[in-house]
Amino acid sequence: MDGQYLPMSEAKVSVLDWGFLHSDATYDTVHVWEGRFFRLDLHLNRFFRGIEKLRMKLPYNRSEIERILSTCVLLSGHKSAYVEMICTRGGSPTFSRDPREAENRFIAFAVPFGSVANKEQLERGLHVAISDTVRIPPRSIDPTIKNYHWLDLIKGLFEAYDQGAETALIVDINDNVAEGPGFNVFMVKDGLLQTPANGVLPGITRQTVFDLCSELGLSASASDFNRAELKGADEVFITSTAGGIMSVTKIDDTVIGDGRVGAVTRQLTDLYWTKHADPAWSTPVKGE
Ligand code: PLP
Repeated sequence: MDGQYLPMSEAKVSVLDWGFLHSDATYDTVHVWEGRFFRLDLHLNRFFRGIEKLRMKLPYNRSEIERILSTCVLLSGHKSAYVEMICTRGGSPTFSRDPREAENRFIAFAVPFGSVANKEQLERGLHVAISDTVRIPPRSIDPTIKNYHWLDLIKGLFEAYDQGAETALIVDINDNVAEGPGFNVFMVKDGLLQTPANGVLPGITRQTVFDLCSELGLSASASDFNRAELKGADEVFITSTAGGIMSVTKIDDTVIGDGRVGAVTRQLTDLYWTKHADPAWSTPVKGE
């Protein structure tokens, strides 16, 4: 943070930072699994694209950021970590309200690896509730810029808990299924995979599923579907850097397929984790 490495308990942002005051920030999260970053290049590409679109400037170049992320992981001592990089608008030294005058800030941290689904949920599949809450539309916030506009997702999550579900999916302005708090969604029907095309973050795990499908000869496409189509799927899974590929076996009151983790989901999950040791898909955390 601001050129210093600190214990997490001492890493604090200013209350005047527009990242905090206006959610004027972009970020990315990559994970480290057994000492290796998974698809770091894709995460950095998305992070740099977001910064450019928000007209922010980073005080570091790409290789400096790679080095900072590695150092965070090494100093944290975690072999498997969740590593977040953030660029905030910062603030203006003269309290100007003009965002062009703000001094942008870079923050990165490493915490232990975490997952949307716990071990038991991964084995039996998650119970998800679909909320009527509409994801903030792309004309308001460009979803390709990874952002902290989560009030819609958090509202969906509370509604899901109220119904006894474990997590939520929310919809887009056309009432098609969009995404959930920190994940994309896929359905499998008659051997074909489908994930929403519009109004969602282009997740790196989502992209990874497309890449794994090409390798396995499975057909996957980005095209929208509604909640009835999702509930009629043979298999459903969600994807996130926080947990990878995670099965969904119940949506609202509907049991998906035979109610167990499906064969396609299992095959993709196994290959996904195998790729974490493959130098074409992962890079080692390096010291100075
Ligand atoms: N959708 C949203 C809103 C997210 O915040 C995330 C990740 O945090 C995802 C989808 C999944 O993206 P990724 O696979 O890159 O982790």
